[in-house]
Amino acid sequence: MKHNKPQIYTLNCRSWIGNLSKKSIKVQQPKCEKCNRALKEEIKYSKVVLEAEKYNGEDWASASGLLMVTQKLYEALMLGGIKGFAPLKVKKVPFKYTALDIKTIPDFVYLAILSPAIRNIPIACDYTGICEGCNLTLNKYNEEKSQLIMRKTTENPINLQVYADTYENADIFNFTDHGEIGVTQKFLDVIKDFNCPDAVIIPAEWI
Ligand SMILES: [Zn+2]
Repeated sequence: MKHNKPQIYTLNCRSWIGNLSKKSIKVQQPKCEKCNRALKEEIKYSKVVLEAEKYNGEDWASASGLLMVTQKLYEALMLGGIKGFAPLKVKKVPFKYTALDIKTIPDFVYLAILSPAIRNIPIACDYTGICEGCNLTLNKYNEEKSQLIMRKTTENPINLQVYADTYENADIFNFTDHGEIGVTQKFLDVIKDFNCPDAVIIPAEWI
């Protein structure tokens, strides 16, 4: 198919500096009345509190499926015109069992990804049809495929197939039926000058 869409990728950031505290607030997503699936319409968290356990100069980190970047990287993303998120300040608190001084950790910003989530063909489950309510796939658990929801390696990569007609020009976005986030080449061009370790990045494919 011919189109002028940017090259996109699935991204699993596996860089870790600590878990979210219970004081973080998860946003309730609306549900489809027909199939009961949670629709990714709201940002994932409205408050992010990080229990910092270790820090080694990383400019990004992930916890509970959300992506946080340093203030420095956030400013570069803004300067680069990266669209698709709302910035939320991350509150850092010390983890009970670490001697780490949290004042030595820079400020982090949670990239709260905005809707719309882009429709894709699921690779981590079987699907049995399309829901008449939400127009998304009716999914069935498949143990073997379920490991593909957040990939740990780029070995034998499957390119996620993504419907171009649901794309609204964001550089960072969610997929309706996939656990990893989506980013454009433009997003990767900004982060390449920063310390962004432990990423599983696989090209996705427009259909
Ligand atoms: Zn539905």
